[in-house]
Amino acid sequence: MSTQTAEEVSLRGEKNTLIRRSKPDRSQRIRQIVQWSFVALNGWLGVQFYLWVRYFERGGESLYVSRPSGVEGWLPIAGLMNSKYFLFTGRVPAIHPAAMVLFLAFLLMSLLLKKAFCAWLCPVGTFSELLWKLGRRIFGRNLRLPRWADLPLRGLKYLLLGFFVFVIGAMSAEALVADVKMLNFFRDMGQTAAIVLALLVLGSMLVQNFWCRYLCPYGALMGLVSLLSPVKIRRDADACIDCGKCARACPAGLPVDRLMQIRSAECSACMVCVAACPAQDALQFSLPPRRPVAPAQRWFRRALGPLAVAGILAYIFLAIILLARVTSHWQTNIPRAVYMDLVPHANELSHPGM
Ligand code: SF4
Ligand code: SF4
Repeated sequence: MSTQTAEEVSLRGEKNTLIRRSKPDRSQRIRQIVQWSFVALNGWLGVQFYLWVRYFERGGESLYVSRPSGVEGWLPIAGLMNSKYFLFTGRVPAIHPAAMVLFLAFLLMSLLLKKAFCAWLCPVGTFSELLWKLGRRIFGRNLRLPRWADLPLRGLKYLLLGFFVFVIGAMSAEALVADVKMLNFFRDMGQTAAIVLALLVLGSMLVQNFWCRYLCPYGALMGLVSLLSPVKIRRDADACIDCGKCARACPAGLPVDRLMQIRSAECSACMVCVAACPAQDALQFSLPPRRPVAPAQRWFRRALGPLAVAGILAYIFLAIILLARVTSHWQTNIPRAVYMDLVPHANELSHPGM
């Protein structure tokens, strides 16, 4: 009687011998460092921005810090509006240029590295991941919705994206304080907003990446752009032992063990599948392979390790910000007196670009 394990038996009827990977995988450790560094950066920007707002709310009677333009990364609609303006006029808008700069940087990341922005940088993605891991620890597992519910729900984020693209109009004076209104939303959260947020937290604990998977229009856009990415998760059938560990580990529920490459807009380049794979050269985040050679050569200088991914993301992020700064397309240059008028009354101004 054979004592073959699942790892030794190929579901395709072929039998690939397991050649264990030679080096331990560090992708998740590196990704978490990048994720939490970005959360820390955003926290620092948040504190700076709060102090800036407080200065105007107190009529100039508190510490003044300059407005951190990076906070505009939280204004995706302004980013989209400004990009549209730039596309049609060839001019960089004077209000919230950093929103556009960051928006374009994140789009470029998605174009090159799938939805790496979502799994490596986005603070909402980082907290979503923390919540489903916490939920798994508390409840013992996460829920996977049945396909008939999962598919239409996944379509919701595209509908939301379509809605926001549809409602984008011309920028108006109120957009000047869209960032202040966003801060106020979290500071003076009403009961309804608090209940919705609590439900989202609960949903995120039960279902992996609930917000990102079903509701985030920004992620939907990144996902659509990521379809063009030349770098994808790729499986090597000659090295794969069909153990299915990659598919079971994938937070997006993708059938990694059955596909040769992951084209899906749901793939966030998190590399969790790569980390779970026990076989040398069976699964990589890579450019198309060289052929026809042995697996080790096939992926030589084609596969991207986690340090390379982190390096490319950091390079795009810093290079685009530097370029925007030296060309004076980073700061919103509005006189203090205008802000002194607008900031304390931000909530009285209506604008969809929060
Ligand atoms: S396929 Fe791999 S990289 Fe893509 S989402 Fe699933 S686990 Fe992450
Ligand atoms: S690619 Fe997936 S199925 Fe193949 S060996 Fe790796 S984890 Fe197992």
